[in-house]
Amino acid sequence: MTEATWGTVKNELQKTLGRNNYTNWIEPLVLADLNGGVATFSVPTNFIGNWVQRNFGEEIKHHLSKAGSAVSRIEFVVPRGETTAMAAVTPAQSDPQAPADETPARKTVSSARAAARSESGLPGAPLDSRFTFDSFVVGKPNELAHAAAKRVAEGGPVTFNPLFLYGGVGLGKTHLMHAIAHELHTSRPDLNVVYLSAEQFMYRFVQALREKKMMDFKELFRAVDVLMVDDVQFIAGKDSTQEEFFHTFNALVDQQKQIIISADRAPGEIKDLEDRIKSRLQSGLVVDLHPTDYELRLGILQQKVDHYSQQYQGLELADGVLEFLALRISTNVRVLEGALTRLFAFASLVGREITLDLAQDCLADILRASDRKITIEEIQRKVSEHYNIRLSEMIGPRRVRTIARPRQVAMYLSKQMTSRSLPEIGRRFGGRDHTTVMHGVKRIEELKTQDHQIAEDLELLRRSLEA
Ligand code: ADP
Ligand code: MG
Repeated sequence: MTEATWGTVKNELQKTLGRNNYTNWIEPLVLADLNGGVATFSVPTNFIGNWVQRNFGEEIKHHLSKAGSAVSRIEFVVPRGETTAMAAVTPAQSDPQAPADETPARKTVSSARAAARSESGLPGAPLDSRFTFDSFVVGKPNELAHAAAKRVAEGGPVTFNPLFLYGGVGLGKTHLMHAIAHELHTSRPDLNVVYLSAEQFMYRFVQALREKKMMDFKELFRAVDVLMVDDVQFIAGKDSTQEEFFHTFNALVDQQKQIIISADRAPGEIKDLEDRIKSRLQSGLVVDLHPTDYELRLGILQQKVDHYSQQYQGLELADGVLEFLALRISTNVRVLEGALTRLFAFASLVGREITLDLAQDCLADILRASDRKITIEEIQRKVSEHYNIRLSEMIGPRRVRTIARPRQVAMYLSKQMTSRSLPEIGRRFGGRDHTTVMHGVKRIEELKTQDHQIAEDLELLRRSLEA
């Protein structure tokens, strides 16, 4: 690839990512090397590299392919001089867990910092222009979260505070938060809306400590009208950051300012998070994004295809391909999107119709990874851990309730999540009869509708097994 090609790609990126994202994140990239399907860019800091990789990586690859330079991977390097500058800046002692590479040198962070500042001068991360309510596909698994996000985005009087969104990786938490921010920017331009990840919150906090600018830090955050903190599980175990977060949180709630938080699990499930913070987080509305179902995945794919068919005119998509992908790639939406992106890029390169065969070839690695089978042993182990009993007890003969119930839960999950037959399951549970297994499965099915705790346990276990 020549400089000219990268120039073309940059133009495309400017169109799709928007001016702000482009200036802040794409412009600083210098193409250093392109070899063996790997494009290497030199960037001022690791922070920028990580951010670009995470947020725009797929988009960059896509446009490179379109411009005739198919790459399977992009990498970022920080030139030597700057690495030294970075190494000189160690995170503040008060928070030993602060990752060194999230603490870029001051001199080199200027563009990231400029990006991370909204017009009001408040600290925040840039928004992805594609993450809007329009592009968010609503289905059963996410309808509550979507409705709650919509409500908050109206910018009316604060009714629930905070709004706590949680769910597994790639289920749309960040998308929804950005959508709220976009909507508020148009409907309520008077409000100071700040979105940032918990990681960035910590980074700013550590930086303020180091530069002895805590007063500025506090003032900045206290002047926010709507604060969104993404992936709050990140601050678990980081005591001084938690402390500051708690104060910021309380100050804003006291002033009736809206707070929106996301995490990968429910507040009560986040380990090493102070109890007072957990209970604060639970005091508003807690909604979860469930794992996607087939219909939702298909809907998302269809929307993406509509989008792509404008870009790749004349590219044909055979019947059944989307259904196949929706069925087979059930891990997370990001993976699903990545698969489709690759498929279109590949098909446009070779100039062929996208058929099932092509999909299977081109996506073999993704399909294989999604094929992970859950085993009965894994289920037994997880369930034992969850109920705090020994694995030997799970398989053993004792029939006291405290052991028999977890055993039935494990049998139920084995029936649901594996393709094993009842007799086979019975054998793995210490050689029990298939009627015992059947009874256990029935019992849990009944309890699930009557006993809230059991229903919650099942949901939690299923999630963690699927993760
Ligand atoms: P999370 O923050 O929960 O890990 P993201 O919000 O980053 O997940 O979503 C991952 C990707 O999947 C994003 O590109 C996002 O646009 C897409 N996505 C997730 N859910 C949906 C949905 N319901 N409709 C459209 N796109 C979605
Ligand atoms: Mg996210």
